[in-house]
Amino acid sequence: AALGGTLEGLISRRTAAFGPGSVVFYRQPLHVVSARGATIQTVDGERFLDLYNNVPSVGHCHPKVVEAVQKQVALLNVHTRYLFDSLDDYAERLCATLPPSLGHLALTCTGSEANDLALRIAGIATGGKGVVVTSAAYHGNTSAVTEVSPSAYKVGAPPDHVQTVAPPDPTYYGPDVAAGFTAAVEGAIAALEARGHKLSCLLVDSIFSSDGVFADPVGLLAGAADAVHRAQGLVIADEVQPGFGRTGTRFWGFARHGITPDIVTMGKPMANGMAMGGVAVRPELLARFSEKFGYFNTFAGNPVAVAAARAVLEVIAEEGLMANADHVGRHLKGRLEDLATRAPALGAVRGAGLYLGVDVVAPDTGLPDPEGASTLINALRHKHILIGAAGRLGHVLKLRPPLCLTVEEADRFVDVLEGLLP
Ligand code: PMP
Repeated sequence: AALGGTLEGLISRRTAAFGPGSVVFYRQPLHVVSARGATIQTVDGERFLDLYNNVPSVGHCHPKVVEAVQKQVALLNVHTRYLFDSLDDYAERLCATLPPSLGHLALTCTGSEANDLALRIAGIATGGKGVVVTSAAYHGNTSAVTEVSPSAYKVGAPPDHVQTVAPPDPTYYGPDVAAGFTAAVEGAIAALEARGHKLSCLLVDSIFSSDGVFADPVGLLAGAADAVHRAQGLVIADEVQPGFGRTGTRFWGFARHGITPDIVTMGKPMANGMAMGGVAVRPELLARFSEKFGYFNTFAGNPVAVAAARAVLEVIAEEGLMANADHVGRHLKGRLEDLATRAPALGAVRGAGLYLGVDVVAPDTGLPDPEGASTLINALRHKHILIGAAGRLGHVLKLRPPLCLTVEEADRFVDVLEGLLP
């Protein structure tokens, strides 16, 4: 039996304290106690292969991150209004991964705060409020950022200053996805202007995670970024999902598309689970913001979070995790593509590195099948494999394991999935 009572008891205890907003994964939720690498262990000693969690990106409880945090928390933890070397050292190392034009940083605790600040900077720099986002985007949970997160709305829709475009999905745009996406962004800018909203920015997640994972063709964002700049707007790349090596060939997702954003926001994998997010920005844009507002974030960039974040950069380099994401990701994608040719319930396989999406479709019609996806995800859970769902309809299997995933673990997933398919 689970510690603290039965599963039903634990679920009702959770709901009693947190109400209807509380969501736990799976029809039979997991009661977890520990994790290592790409494996999570439950209270009953069962081990689950984790192909879902992208926050512990260098591996759950990576010893180097754990040691860095333990040492630092016993030594000093203050805010950034003091000098401490590790912060400046980290800032230099992080900036070295970014385009030289993004010379200034602001640290936050979450991706939401990073996007919120980015919107404020863009609004002041452009004098506009209009924002273009994709139709099932998620960019966070503050008031301003919820407005640019269509997927967060259960009823209603984003306000008038927000214009959505379909993600780069050939279903919408046909074979020339890049041209179609560019035209859609141009149309969105014109629609905002027609409604009296000056353009502030295109805010885009370059792996289009909540939209259902769209990675191709490489370079697809170039035309859209040009269109935004022609209209005097800014490009904000939300790297919360694709950043820190996940897409395999480049450290940042936007770099796969050959664009240089004006602002980059980051979070989730940045400190392997310690609360850490950030904004990298062209210095002149931050300067204009700083003429009007101060920005201080009590917990952001504290020495413990920075210790974890530094260890993350070191582990990615030392263990070659970006190359591993590329290698294991290609292998996994290849095996899934092969499986999809034999399995009528699987449609397109998309993604880059260790960020993959697989459409689940009704075998007879080929139409999206969210119920089928949910059934598969829950069946995999019973086979001790954890994955999630994405896409506006929720019919896309979402795979984004820790970057240390091995070929053997990837194979195990595909073999089990094959056994579960109708
Ligand atoms: N942007 C993207 C693309 C995200 O996926 C998320 C979180 N799912 C956020 C921003 C918000 O990050 P946080 O939950 O850390 O506020």
